[in-house]
Amino acid sequence: MPIVVQKYGGSSLADADSIKRVAQRITETKKAGNDVVVAVSAMGDSTDELLDLATEVSPLPPARELDMLMTAGERISMALVAMAISDLGYTARSFTGSQAGVITTAVHGNAKIIDVTPGRITEAIGKGHIVIVAGFQGVSQDTKEITTLGRGGTDTTAVALAAALGAQVCEIYTDVDGVFTADPRIVPAARKIHRISNEEMLELAASGSKVLHLRSVEYARRFDMPIHVRSSFSHKEGTIVTDQPAPEGEPVEAPIIAGVAHDRSEAKITVVGVPDTTGKAAQIFTALAVAEINIDMIVQNVSATETGLTDISFTLPKTHGTTAMQTLQRISGTVGFTGLLYDDQIGKLSLVGAGMRSNPGVSATFFRALAETEVNIEMISTSEIRISVITRADRLDEAARAVHTAFGLDSTDPGGEAVVYGGTGR
Ligand code: ASP
Ligand code: MG
Repeated sequence: MPIVVQKYGGSSLADADSIKRVAQRITETKKAGNDVVVAVSAMGDSTDELLDLATEVSPLPPARELDMLMTAGERISMALVAMAISDLGYTARSFTGSQAGVITTAVHGNAKIIDVTPGRITEAIGKGHIVIVAGFQGVSQDTKEITTLGRGGTDTTAVALAAALGAQVCEIYTDVDGVFTADPRIVPAARKIHRISNEEMLELAASGSKVLHLRSVEYARRFDMPIHVRSSFSHKEGTIVTDQPAPEGEPVEAPIIAGVAHDRSEAKITVVGVPDTTGKAAQIFTALAVAEINIDMIVQNVSATETGLTDISFTLPKTHGTTAMQTLQRISGTVGFTGLLYDDQIGKLSLVGAGMRSNPGVSATFFRALAETEVNIEMISTSEIRISVITRADRLDEAARAVHTAFGLDSTDPGGEAVVYGGTGR
């Protein structure tokens, strides 16, 4: 029997009724003649609630215990989904990540999957059961400790299971109908993308599009596993993420721009008055690297000739802000800079498209759209297939809509084609 791997996100499992609806969908897939393996996220916003609870108990909870706590969310949904399935007359077996053979590195909170040894899954499938696996978690080979894969990691669990089990496709069920040209919560005129390459999907995910976990796309690309992103609330065809050629008869879309992504999770630090001499940037970024801080954009100004001093600005996840500022304060004497500024009221807007490589004028159109909406650009960075800018956070939504329109991405459907079925957007 063909194996179908499905993933259901938190917003598809928000309450008892949603769980029953998902169970219905799973059993339909089984009835259609497939073996079904399902990865589930925690119900609704429960991961955030657990996190809030943890920080109420302890401002800096130990990473090991935080992982123990967070993995509980997925255990709740896996058991409830299995119960709902048995109520529909099918048998299901739920497994934790560790039981399912998800072997990871030892890093708490951001472990990487090293291997999947799905012995118990194949055994359960062999007995005719539907298998439900707790997403976003595994067990470290070295420490034998329970780990989590980072926020949104259930997508990666699903893709890893699909690859290990030799599934045809990995279906990711979410609260929108697929991958859109922008987040429909912000750009109501966003259009559904029918087919997108891994490369473009990776850039969108890395630029703040939350529809797929970045590492799930990396994993899918490595194993050539097509991902079908679709809604658990409708039966519409979603978006296929793949590098495989479109089947014959299907239009081969090759738009210049795939879409725009926005990100509100970053902050900007400016190191003021850095002596413009060899090795200063190396000192600054080495200290940050040692503190395990992820840096995104970096800009160094031209130094003022009178002073020989320059400013270096960079962006980083807001969650790393405090550690980064403390780290920099510690080295201020050795580097010799004069000040530090912290700004968490920024937004990042990115335009992604493989067609940028061969089409001049993309940045001109992008910047013109921002100018016409009177959005000021604070930083710019580019890759081969992406342009990103930093703006004020409160201008980000308008900027996204303006750029979306400027590149002709708006849906011609007057009501818009994007439906947001669930989720709180948290
Ligand atoms: N429940 C986890 C989170 O909210 C993992 C996931 O949803 O994929 O990040
Ligand atoms: Mg979630």
